[in-house]
Amino acid sequence: MRRRPAVAAAAAACAVAALAALGRASAPAVSRVPTTSRMVALTFDDGPAAPYTAQILSLLARYHDAATFFVVGREVKQFPELLRQEVRDGMEVGLHGMTHLNLHTVGASNIVRDAQRERQYLSTVVPAASLSRLYRTPYGMKNPRLERELAAAHLTLVLWDVDTRDWARPGVAYIVRQVEHLTKPGSIVLFHDGGGNRSQTVAALAILLPWLKRQGYQAVTVQTLVQAASG
Ligand SMILES: [Zn+2]
Repeated sequence: MRRRPAVAAAAAACAVAALAALGRASAPAVSRVPTTSRMVALTFDDGPAAPYTAQILSLLARYHDAATFFVVGREVKQFPELLRQEVRDGMEVGLHGMTHLNLHTVGASNIVRDAQRERQYLSTVVPAASLSRLYRTPYGMKNPRLERELAAAHLTLVLWDVDTRDWARPGVAYIVRQVEHLTKPGSIVLFHDGGGNRSQTVAALAILLPWLKRQGYQAVTVQTLVQAASG
């Protein structure tokens, strides 16, 4: 453990950089927050969707965990009450665009305009909530122009370091194994609560939330993870 001080110093430096990323114009994407604290950010894309979002919220409540939901505006139009429940339950809501556009097809400017339109729309559904400025591109795509334009719009690109591949429905055991093998302090884990049948995701979470607790991990929002790591 001779290397620990150097590792800790590097982690602290990265945490400061990540915090700056949340508040500054020339921000790089955040995929993980290096920290020695046993905290992780669970993130859910493509919802809200019935019945999965409510099932996930109920599991998170049971284990007193928080998470970040990168919602799609089109889905919020269908299930506005689920977005309100996310906010009521203390979850963080991030942007994933009105219609799940593909960066390579539509280009960076359209992606950013779509994100801004979504943020405006969400503020009409949950007017009292303070909406985060976190944005996740559909398919996790990015390029330098998108990063520049998101930064100019004061939006922070949040990706992930743990991909459960749950969108492909690879089986509950696979999803569980991905998280158990890949999660480290400061990890950002990608799940999906929308975009298809997510019963495997829900079943995996019922196993993973108590597993994370047993490992000493606390599941928090992306914003909390970044802030805690910087302190
Ligand atoms: Zn997506």
